[in-house]
Amino acid sequence: MLKFAVKPPVQVVVPVQFSEEKFPVHRIYCVGRNYADHVKEMGGDPKAEPPIFFSKPADAVVTSGADVRYPQATADLHHEVELVVALQSGGKHIPAEQAFSCVYAYGVGIDFTRRDLQAAAKNAGKPWDVAKGFDQSAPISALNPVASCGHPLDARISLRVNDEIRQDASLDSMIWSVAEIISELSNFFELQAGDLIFTGTPSGVAATNPGDHLAASIEGVADLEFNVV
Ligand code: MN
Repeated sequence: MLKFAVKPPVQVVVPVQFSEEKFPVHRIYCVGRNYADHVKEMGGDPKAEPPIFFSKPADAVVTSGADVRYPQATADLHHEVELVVALQSGGKHIPAEQAFSCVYAYGVGIDFTRRDLQAAAKNAGKPWDVAKGFDQSAPISALNPVASCGHPLDARISLRVNDEIRQDASLDSMIWSVAEIISELSNFFELQAGDLIFTGTPSGVAATNPGDHLAASIEGVADLEFNVV
């Protein structure tokens, strides 16, 4: 019997649609700069800068439409609506042609970003951690198993804030496809069951504030609604 020196952390889980089962979260990987229109709106050149990886702590997840508290240390909290991939298996150096076999389910999530801190980090050539990996920075819908929704290659991804459309794109405008993301990521990390991957955001990112109601959707896959308080 293990005896812990301090109170052990709780296993983070995400609900699964149509099921009592919960998806246990191992790591949260994220892709940046994966839609050309978003790279351009951030002042970049999608041809010159391939997508990049960063990560968030597993316990940044917020589920079940729970309120998200406006975070500390920012005056410019941005929403980024993203397709989220949930893995049932992993490995290293996974060929893109085999990547779909690793996918258990899909969901929709928000990669909340402290844009002011990210801009300062970019200018100083510093890491993005404080801009991306903060508490409650990864709200996510219940997951829809591949067995039920298939692989959403060209579904619409959208975000409404207070009923006004802010982001709206097709998943087929991603620079790296889901299969390519899994393959590329597995060249850097040994992927595992329980990993979540946020796959990047289309254009339309903007500030969100306490009192806002966010409604994210991937057609035929998942919906997520919550309030920033
Ligand atoms: Mn993002």
